[in-house]
Amino acid sequence: MFADLHLHTCFSDGTYSPEELAAQALRHGFHAVALTDHDTVEGCAETAAACAARQLEFISGTELTAEQEGREIHILGYCVDIHHPKLLAEIGKFQAVRQNRIREMVARLNQMNVPLETDAVFALANCRSPGRPHVARALVQAGLCGNLDEAFERFLKRNRPAWVPKFKISAAAAIELIHEAGGVAVMAHPGLNRSDEVIPAMVEAGLDGIECFHTKHSTPTEEHYLEIADLLHLLVTGGSDCHGNSKGKPVIGTVKLPYQHVEKLKARAAEIKSASAPHH
Ligand code: AMP
Ligand code: ZN
Ligand code: FE
Ligand code: FE
Repeated sequence: MFADLHLHTCFSDGTYSPEELAAQALRHGFHAVALTDHDTVEGCAETAAACAARQLEFISGTELTAEQEGREIHILGYCVDIHHPKLLAEIGKFQAVRQNRIREMVARLNQMNVPLETDAVFALANCRSPGRPHVARALVQAGLCGNLDEAFERFLKRNRPAWVPKFKISAAAAIELIHEAGGVAVMAHPGLNRSDEVIPAMVEAGLDGIECFHTKHSTPTEEHYLEIADLLHLLVTGGSDCHGNSKGKPVIGTVKLPYQHVEKLKARAAEIKSASAPHH
């Protein structure tokens, strides 16, 4: 039995609808999946229903944009209460800033005489948590760029003219928020920016796990983070980080997390929920 605990839908910058995501997960033989859209939990209810219709286990989640010592860190929150008022309030802030960031990116493009319209980006994104991939797709759709890579290379990559820094909360705040919402906090894809030196401080802040298995982790990288997880007594998670067709071929199915890790994750979530439940 296997799981994919890192998936995106069109509720952030993926292309799959919840139905398509569940169908793909079934096709690849998964027993359980988690949805981890950027700075939102909005797709969770629909994806849970789509999974239930296929006897697939669903774990609600999110991928929060955070920072630690000046580095961008993504914190995955699993088994969070998707109706938790504070979580929803914080997510609302993220989304407002993301939408303003789209306006700012388009304004910068317009200053360079790239006639992209803000509404074209919002219409294409059709979600409350838009990001650079939506701007890139809109540029391609409007015929202003040949492909997504060109859009990133010319305009959207860090330090390119239309790049606007992203709003982030501190890693400690993200971990605390996830715990308050009854969830388990996991550092996403540590091998992507090799930020090992920030791990101890995050563990100090209550980090529960690290994502050892990820599409972009090589086997030695996997082994490296499995060792760190073992050493620091952290949970082990993994997932494909599939965005549907938005970054070339869908990668769902390329990472298969053994189900035993899901059991440990759920056990931790139960502990966190019972610790925060009102005592009598
Ligand atoms: P944002 O959250 O708005 O900063 O956008 C980040 C997203 O853009 C991530 O999902 C990245 O994988 C994606 N991204 C970054 N660089 C590129 C690129 N060169 N081509 C396609 N997608 C990219
Ligand atoms: Zn993404
Ligand atoms: Fe990420
Ligand atoms: Fe992701």
